[in-house]
Amino acid sequence: MKIIRTIEELQNIRKTITSSVGFVPTMGALHDGHISLIKQAREENEIVIVSIFVNPTQFLPGEDLDAYPRKDEADKKICEMCKVDYLFMPEISTMYGKEEVLIKAPNKSYMLEGEARPGHFDGVLLVVLKLFGLTQPTNAYFGKKDAQQLSLITQMVKDLFLPINVVACDIVRENDGLAMSSRNIYLDQTQRKDALLLSKSLYTAASLIAKDERDTKTIKNKIHEVMEKLDVEYVAIVDREFNEIQTIELNNCIILIVVRFGNTRLLDNIWL
Ligand code: AMP
Repeated sequence: MKIIRTIEELQNIRKTITSSVGFVPTMGALHDGHISLIKQAREENEIVIVSIFVNPTQFLPGEDLDAYPRKDEADKKICEMCKVDYLFMPEISTMYGKEEVLIKAPNKSYMLEGEARPGHFDGVLLVVLKLFGLTQPTNAYFGKKDAQQLSLITQMVKDLFLPINVVACDIVRENDGLAMSSRNIYLDQTQRKDALLLSKSLYTAASLIAKDERDTKTIKNKIHEVMEKLDVEYVAIVDREFNEIQTIELNNCIILIVVRFGNTRLLDNIWL
C-alpha cells in the first residue's frame, strides 16, 4: 500500500491507472463500518483508493472538528490489512486554498441533518467533488448510515454528469444493534446503554410495518414512545428522494432518527 500526501503524486498515479478504481472517502478512525465499504470496493475493482481527511468545511463553528478522533497509525494498518492500493491522507492546506469556488447543495439539504447543521452538506459536496476529481473513481462507496449525505452525493453525480457509479452500502452494527460510528467513543457507559434504544425503536417500527401499519404518524409515535427517555432531535420518515411521506411505501422509504447525548449526536436509520 502506498500512502499519498500530495495532489501531484495522486494525479500522477491516477494517470497511470487504466483499470477500474474503487474509491472510499472517510474521515478516519476506521471501524467495521468503513471496513465493509473498503472490502466491497476491494471485491469490485482492480484498484482501491481510500482517503482519510477530516474535512473542516463540513463542520460548523463550535462542532467537534478539533476533538474528532484521529487514529492515523491504526488506520494505516487497517487499510494495509484490507489490501488497499493507495491511501490518500492530505493536509488541510493541500485540499483548500484561500478563496475558492464553492458548491451549494440544493435547498432540501437544509432540512433534517442540514437543519441542525446548516451548510454542512455544502462542505461535504465540495470535498467529495474535489476527491472525485482527484481519484476519478469508477465506483465510489458510501454508507447508508449517512442516508441524506448519500442521497445528495447521488444527486450531485447525476446533476453534474459525473461518470461515477455511487454504491450504497448497508449499515454495519455492533452485536447489540448500535450502528457503528467514529463518534460512539464519546458516549459514557450509561449513554452507551441508552443508545441501544435507537436501533430498538427502528426495529419496533419495522415490525409494525411488517404487520401492515402504513400510517407514518402512528409509526413515529411508536418510535418516540420507545425513545421516551432520550433527547430526540428528530424522527422523520421520507422517500428515497428525501420528501417527507404520510403513508409508508415499501421499497421507497427511509426512517431516520437523531438523538442527542450531551454534545454528541447519534444518527440511525432503516431503509424499508
Ligand atoms: P465518515 O468517516 O464518518 O465520514 O464515514 C465514511 C463513510 O463510511 C461514509 O460513507 C459513511 O456513511 C460510512 N459509514 C460510517 N459508519 C458506517 C456504518 N456503521 N455502516 C456502514 N457505513 C458506514
